[in-house]
Amino acid sequence: MIVINKFGGGVINGAIPIKHLFEIFKSYSPDDYSVNVFSAFGKTTNKLEKIVNNYIKAETIEGKKLLDELKFFHIEIAQELFPKNHTIFFIIEDIFQKIQHTLSIIGQHKNAAYIYDQIVPFGEILASQIVSEYFSYIGISNKLIHATDFLKTDSNFNSANVDKKATFENLKVYMGEGILSLYKNIITQGFIGFSDKGMTTLGREGSDYTAGLLGNLLNANKVILWKDVPGVMDKDPKLSGNENAKKINFLTYDNLDDLLQTATSGLVHPKIVHPKTINEVKEKRISLQVRSFWDLNSEGTLIS
Ligand code: ASP
Ligand code: MG
Repeated sequence: MIVINKFGGGVINGAIPIKHLFEIFKSYSPDDYSVNVFSAFGKTTNKLEKIVNNYIKAETIEGKKLLDELKFFHIEIAQELFPKNHTIFFIIEDIFQKIQHTLSIIGQHKNAAYIYDQIVPFGEILASQIVSEYFSYIGISNKLIHATDFLKTDSNFNSANVDKKATFENLKVYMGEGILSLYKNIITQGFIGFSDKGMTTLGREGSDYTAGLLGNLLNANKVILWKDVPGVMDKDPKLSGNENAKKINFLTYDNLDDLLQTATSGLVHPKIVHPKTINEVKEKRISLQVRSFWDLNSEGTLIS
């Protein structure tokens, strides 16, 4: 069985949820393969957006301050997961040096969308590196495969369009049967890809879409979106007055699509699933599950 898991920044916001990942992976049998799509931890993407804006406006002191905070946030997480002197600390250092270097040459580029896409993906890169190293450290077999190696897009920075054909060909090389059976668990990034002109992003909250796309191209058995809510709820549980929101157990792809399109305040949480995800799973009739990251006894919502 091939399962695509997507873990967003809403649930993975510190060391405790990263440790909790073990509870999910210990249930996989030796002939299960998983491809795990991570987005940036917590509010990292928002912070990186601010940092990019600061540097574009030449507010380098403020930008540098935020960047130091973001580095500290990642180091603190790593300190709770790894012993001192673990290679992860060098990896984090190296990534922040790359970010700093790219920011220092920003003045040479005029295109803000291009600059954004050369910086913001590092949130996903940091997250996936930390999780992959942690899995290796606790003995969960895995391989980190960067989306910037296989997820080919055009150069429409900030909301790049995926070249599905090229991506499919790349996946045959990067996530072929041999690789899957050797490593069992693949770790990769949502939301990011590459074009002939550099890194690209698929638009905010795009990691669900990456998960759906991988499900489609790898003919997965299931795509699971792990959330901080029990599943798709009949009302937006994050709005006050909706404390009695109930989980919907089953939905068809079209039901979900309709729900998302009509989602206005008070109804289903409009961002529960990125809309582009649905077409990808629907095309290959892959079941999509939206389930609680913390309550592993609940099956959440099954969309099929
Ligand atoms: N990290 C990106 C964002 O916050 C992508 C995602 O979370 O899906 O928009
Ligand atoms: Mg995110």
